[in-house]
Amino acid sequence: MIPEYLQSNPYIRSGYRYGLNFIGCLFSLFYLNNESINVWSHLIGAGVFLYFFFRDIYIGNALPFLKSTSDYYFFLLYTFSVVICMFGSVLFHLFGCMSSRIFADFLKLDLCGIGISILGCYLYGLHITFECYHDWRIRYETIIICITFIAVIYYVHAVKQYITRNIHISLFVIISLLGFLPGLHWYCLHGGWSNRFVQHFFPKLFVLYGILGVGTIVYLTKFPERFFPGYFDFIFASHQIWHISSLCAFIWWYVNGIELLQYRRRNPCHTLHK
Ligand SMILES: [Zn+2]
Repeated sequence: MIPEYLQSNPYIRSGYRYGLNFIGCLFSLFYLNNESINVWSHLIGAGVFLYFFFRDIYIGNALPFLKSTSDYYFFLLYTFSVVICMFGSVLFHLFGCMSSRIFADFLKLDLCGIGISILGCYLYGLHITFECYHDWRIRYETIIICITFIAVIYYVHAVKQYITRNIHISLFVIISLLGFLPGLHWYCLHGGWSNRFVQHFFPKLFVLYGILGVGTIVYLTKFPERFFPGYFDFIFASHQIWHISSLCAFIWWYVNGIELLQYRRRNPCHTLHK
Protein backbone atom coordinates (compact mmCIF):
# COMPACT_ATOMS: atom_id res chain seq x y z
CA MET A 1 0.00 0.00 0.00
CA ILE A 2 1.42 3.40 -1.04
CA PRO A 3 1.72 5.74 1.99
CA GLU A 4 -0.77 8.62 2.03
CA TYR A 5 1.94 11.32 1.96
CA LEU A 6 3.09 10.16 -1.48
CA GLN A 7 -0.38 10.32 -3.00
CA SER A 8 -0.69 14.04 -3.72
CA ASN A 9 -1.24 13.37 -7.43
CA PRO A 10 -4.04 10.77 -7.84
CA TYR A 11 -3.46 10.58 -11.61
CA ILE A 12 0.00 9.05 -11.16
CA ARG A 13 -0.78 5.39 -10.54
CA SER A 14 2.52 3.48 -10.56
CA GLY A 15 6.28 3.79 -10.20
CA TYR A 16 6.20 4.83 -6.53
CA ARG A 17 9.13 4.17 -4.21
CA TYR A 18 8.37 3.61 -0.53
CA GLY A 19 9.94 1.89 2.44
CA LEU A 20 13.40 2.91 1.21
CA ASN A 21 16.27 4.07 3.41
CA PHE A 22 18.93 6.63 2.43
CA ILE A 23 21.02 4.15 0.41
CA GLY A 24 17.89 2.77 -1.25
CA CYS A 25 16.91 6.29 -2.34
CA LEU A 26 20.40 6.95 -3.72
CA PHE A 27 20.28 3.65 -5.61
CA SER A 28 16.91 4.69 -7.08
CA LEU A 29 18.82 7.25 -9.17
CA PHE A 30 19.71 4.36 -11.45
CA TYR A 31 16.37 2.74 -12.17
CA LEU A 32 13.22 4.22 -13.66
CA ASN A 33 10.58 5.36 -11.15
CA ASN A 34 8.01 8.13 -11.17
CA GLU A 35 10.51 10.62 -9.68
CA SER A 36 13.41 9.81 -12.05
CA ILE A 37 12.78 12.66 -14.51
CA ASN A 38 12.09 15.10 -11.65
CA VAL A 39 15.39 14.22 -9.97
CA TRP A 40 17.57 14.06 -13.08
CA SER A 41 16.14 17.20 -14.72
CA HIS A 42 17.23 19.34 -11.79
CA LEU A 43 20.44 17.42 -11.16
CA ILE A 44 21.40 18.24 -14.76
CA GLY A 45 20.12 21.80 -14.18
CA ALA A 46 22.47 22.20 -11.20
CA GLY A 47 25.31 20.86 -13.42
CA VAL A 48 24.49 23.38 -16.16
CA PHE A 49 24.63 26.31 -13.74
CA LEU A 50 27.83 25.05 -12.09
CA TYR A 51 29.28 24.90 -15.62
CA PHE A 52 28.12 28.52 -16.19
CA PHE A 53 29.81 29.47 -12.92
CA PHE A 54 33.17 27.97 -13.95
CA ARG A 55 32.98 29.25 -17.54
CA ASP A 56 31.74 32.79 -16.94
CA ILE A 57 32.57 33.67 -13.36
CA TYR A 58 35.41 31.50 -12.03
CA ILE A 59 37.52 31.36 -15.19
CA GLY A 60 35.77 34.39 -16.66
CA ASN A 61 36.75 33.83 -20.29
CA ALA A 62 33.28 34.59 -21.62
CA LEU A 63 32.88 37.68 -19.46
CA PRO A 64 36.35 39.22 -19.01
CA PHE A 65 34.79 42.62 -18.18
CA LEU A 66 32.89 41.15 -15.26
CA LYS A 67 35.75 41.04 -12.77
CA SER A 68 35.94 43.77 -10.12
CA THR A 69 32.45 45.09 -10.83
CA SER A 70 29.26 44.78 -8.80
CA ASP A 71 27.86 42.85 -11.81
CA TYR A 72 30.19 40.05 -10.78
CA TYR A 73 28.42 39.55 -7.45
CA PHE A 74 24.97 39.63 -9.01
CA PHE A 75 25.96 36.98 -11.54
CA LEU A 76 27.37 34.94 -8.67
CA LEU A 77 24.21 35.40 -6.60
CA TYR A 78 21.92 34.41 -9.47
CA THR A 79 23.98 31.37 -10.44
CA PHE A 80 24.06 30.03 -6.89
CA SER A 81 20.42 30.82 -6.17
CA VAL A 82 19.54 28.54 -9.10
CA VAL A 83 21.99 25.85 -7.92
CA ILE A 84 20.42 25.98 -4.41
CA CYS A 85 16.93 25.69 -5.94
CA MET A 86 17.99 22.74 -8.10
CA PHE A 87 19.63 20.85 -5.22
CA GLY A 88 16.67 21.56 -2.87
CA SER A 89 14.39 20.07 -5.50
CA VAL A 90 16.65 17.03 -6.04
CA LEU A 91 16.73 16.33 -2.28
CA PHE A 92 12.94 16.54 -2.04
CA HIS A 93 12.23 14.32 -5.04
CA LEU A 94 14.98 11.81 -4.26
CA PHE A 95 14.62 11.40 -0.48
CA GLY A 96 11.03 12.56 0.17
CA CYS A 97 9.76 8.98 -0.04
CA MET A 98 11.66 7.94 3.13
CA SER A 99 9.03 9.13 5.63
CA SER A 100 6.24 11.68 5.98
CA ARG A 101 8.50 13.76 8.23
CA ILE A 102 11.35 13.87 5.70
CA PHE A 103 8.81 14.54 2.95
CA ALA A 104 7.45 17.59 4.81
CA ASP A 105 10.88 18.95 5.74
CA PHE A 106 12.31 18.56 2.25
CA LEU A 107 9.14 20.06 0.77
CA LYS A 108 9.88 23.19 2.80
CA LEU A 109 13.47 23.09 1.54
CA ASP A 110 12.22 22.75 -2.04
CA LEU A 111 9.81 25.69 -1.64
CA CYS A 112 12.43 27.89 0.05
CA GLY A 113 14.83 27.03 -2.80
CA ILE A 114 12.22 28.22 -5.32
CA GLY A 115 11.84 31.45 -3.29
CA ILE A 116 15.61 32.02 -3.28
CA SER A 117 15.86 31.41 -7.04
CA ILE A 118 13.01 33.87 -7.74
CA LEU A 119 14.86 36.43 -5.60
CA GLY A 120 18.04 35.66 -7.58
CA CYS A 121 16.14 36.20 -10.87
CA TYR A 122 14.78 39.53 -9.67
CA LEU A 123 18.06 40.89 -8.30
CA TYR A 124 20.00 39.78 -11.38
CA GLY A 125 17.40 41.25 -13.76
CA LEU A 126 16.97 44.50 -11.80
CA HIS A 127 20.70 44.99 -11.44
CA ILE A 128 21.31 44.80 -15.18
CA THR A 129 18.17 46.51 -16.51
CA PHE A 130 18.15 49.41 -14.04
CA GLU A 131 21.86 50.14 -14.29
CA CYS A 132 21.14 53.67 -15.47
CA TYR A 133 18.52 54.29 -12.77
CA HIS A 134 20.28 53.60 -9.48
CA ASP A 135 17.61 55.00 -7.16
CA TRP A 136 14.86 52.89 -8.70
CA ARG A 137 17.14 49.87 -8.69
CA ILE A 138 17.66 50.13 -4.93
CA ARG A 139 13.95 50.68 -4.29
CA TYR A 140 12.88 47.64 -6.29
CA GLU A 141 15.66 45.47 -4.87
CA THR A 142 14.63 46.38 -1.31
CA ILE A 143 10.95 45.63 -2.03
CA ILE A 144 11.63 42.20 -3.56
CA ILE A 145 14.02 41.21 -0.74
CA CYS A 146 11.27 42.04 1.82
CA ILE A 147 8.57 40.15 -0.13
CA THR A 148 10.75 37.04 -0.52
CA PHE A 149 11.72 37.15 3.15
CA ILE A 150 8.03 37.14 4.16
CA ALA A 151 7.27 34.32 1.68
CA VAL A 152 10.10 32.13 3.03
CA ILE A 153 8.89 32.67 6.63
CA TYR A 154 5.41 31.66 5.47
CA TYR A 155 6.72 28.45 3.88
CA VAL A 156 8.79 27.48 6.90
CA HIS A 157 5.89 27.98 9.32
CA ALA A 158 2.72 27.36 7.34
CA VAL A 159 3.61 24.17 5.45
CA LYS A 160 2.52 21.77 8.15
CA GLN A 161 0.93 19.11 6.03
CA TYR A 162 2.88 16.74 3.93
CA ILE A 163 0.93 17.30 0.76
CA THR A 164 1.94 19.56 -2.08
CA ARG A 165 -0.77 22.12 -2.63
CA ASN A 166 -1.53 24.56 -5.40
CA ILE A 167 -1.55 27.41 -2.85
CA HIS A 168 2.22 26.91 -2.41
CA ILE A 169 2.97 27.55 -6.05
CA SER A 170 0.27 30.22 -6.41
CA LEU A 171 2.11 32.50 -4.00
CA PHE A 172 5.21 32.19 -6.16
CA VAL A 173 3.15 32.93 -9.27
CA ILE A 174 1.92 36.18 -7.70
CA ILE A 175 5.46 37.19 -6.64
CA SER A 176 6.74 36.38 -10.14
CA LEU A 177 3.96 38.35 -11.87
CA LEU A 178 4.88 41.41 -9.81
CA GLY A 179 7.94 41.55 -12.08
CA PHE A 180 5.76 43.17 -14.74
CA LEU A 181 5.66 46.35 -12.63
CA PRO A 182 9.40 47.16 -12.80
CA GLY A 183 9.29 45.80 -16.37
CA LEU A 184 6.65 48.34 -17.46
CA HIS A 185 8.39 51.07 -15.48
CA TRP A 186 11.64 50.24 -17.28
CA TYR A 187 9.77 50.41 -20.60
CA CYS A 188 8.48 53.92 -19.77
CA LEU A 189 11.81 55.18 -18.42
CA HIS A 190 13.42 54.30 -21.75
CA GLY A 191 10.82 56.25 -23.73
CA GLY A 192 8.68 53.31 -24.84
CA TRP A 193 8.76 51.19 -27.96
CA SER A 194 10.62 53.71 -30.13
CA ASN A 195 13.80 53.02 -28.13
CA ARG A 196 15.96 50.35 -29.83
CA PHE A 197 17.14 49.04 -26.47
CA VAL A 198 13.49 48.44 -25.49
CA GLN A 199 12.71 46.84 -28.87
CA HIS A 200 15.51 44.36 -28.41
CA PHE A 201 15.07 43.40 -24.78
CA PHE A 202 11.47 44.03 -23.73
CA PRO A 203 10.06 41.04 -25.72
CA LYS A 204 12.52 38.77 -23.89
CA LEU A 205 10.66 39.43 -20.64
CA PHE A 206 7.48 38.08 -22.27
CA VAL A 207 9.35 34.98 -23.48
CA LEU A 208 10.44 34.38 -19.86
CA TYR A 209 6.87 34.67 -18.62
CA GLY A 210 5.67 32.52 -21.53
CA ILE A 211 8.01 29.66 -20.59
CA LEU A 212 7.09 29.95 -16.90
CA GLY A 213 3.39 30.34 -17.75
CA VAL A 214 3.27 27.04 -19.68
CA GLY A 215 5.01 25.23 -16.80
CA THR A 216 2.76 26.78 -14.16
CA ILE A 217 -0.52 26.06 -16.00
CA VAL A 218 0.58 22.45 -16.55
CA TYR A 219 1.54 22.19 -12.85
CA LEU A 220 -1.73 23.62 -11.55
CA THR A 221 -4.00 21.65 -13.90
CA LYS A 222 -2.04 18.37 -13.67
CA PHE A 223 -2.14 18.11 -17.46
CA PRO A 224 -1.77 15.65 -19.24
CA GLU A 225 -2.13 12.86 -16.64
CA ARG A 226 -5.50 14.27 -15.49
CA PHE A 227 -7.04 13.14 -18.80
CA PHE A 228 -5.14 9.86 -19.06
CA PRO A 229 -4.53 8.62 -15.49
CA GLY A 230 -1.74 6.09 -15.30
CA TYR A 231 -0.38 6.81 -18.80
CA PHE A 232 2.19 9.44 -17.78
CA ASP A 233 3.53 7.91 -14.56
CA PHE A 234 7.14 7.81 -15.72
CA ILE A 235 7.48 10.40 -18.45
CA PHE A 236 5.70 13.60 -19.65
CA ALA A 237 3.83 14.05 -16.34
CA SER A 238 2.89 17.61 -15.39
CA HIS A 239 5.50 17.96 -12.66
CA GLN A 240 8.24 16.89 -15.06
CA ILE A 241 7.11 19.49 -17.62
CA TRP A 242 7.15 22.07 -14.81
CA HIS A 243 10.74 21.10 -13.92
CA ILE A 244 11.93 21.40 -17.54
CA SER A 245 10.15 24.72 -18.06
CA SER A 246 11.59 26.23 -14.87
CA LEU A 247 15.10 25.14 -15.92
CA CYS A 248 14.60 26.59 -19.43
CA ALA A 249 13.38 29.88 -17.87
CA PHE A 250 16.46 30.08 -15.64
CA ILE A 251 18.80 29.45 -18.59
CA TRP A 252 16.91 31.95 -20.78
CA TRP A 253 17.23 34.63 -18.10
CA TYR A 254 20.92 33.90 -17.59
CA VAL A 255 21.86 33.95 -21.29
CA ASN A 256 19.91 37.12 -21.98
CA GLY A 257 21.29 38.80 -18.86
CA ILE A 258 24.78 38.33 -20.30
CA GLU A 259 23.68 39.69 -23.67
CA LEU A 260 22.06 42.68 -22.00
CA LEU A 261 25.19 43.39 -19.99
CA GLN A 262 27.38 43.19 -23.09
CA TYR A 263 24.96 45.54 -24.85
CA ARG A 264 25.18 47.97 -21.94
CA ARG A 265 29.01 47.92 -22.07
CA ARG A 266 28.90 48.85 -25.77
CA ASN A 267 26.15 51.43 -25.18
CA PRO A 268 26.74 53.23 -21.89
CA CYS A 269 24.00 55.10 -20.02
CA HIS A 270 24.52 58.46 -21.76
CA THR A 271 23.57 56.84 -25.12
CA LEU A 272 20.32 55.50 -23.67
CA HIS A 273 17.86 57.74 -25.49
CA LYS A 274 19.73 58.01 -28.78
ZN1 LIG B 1 9.56 19.49 -8.12
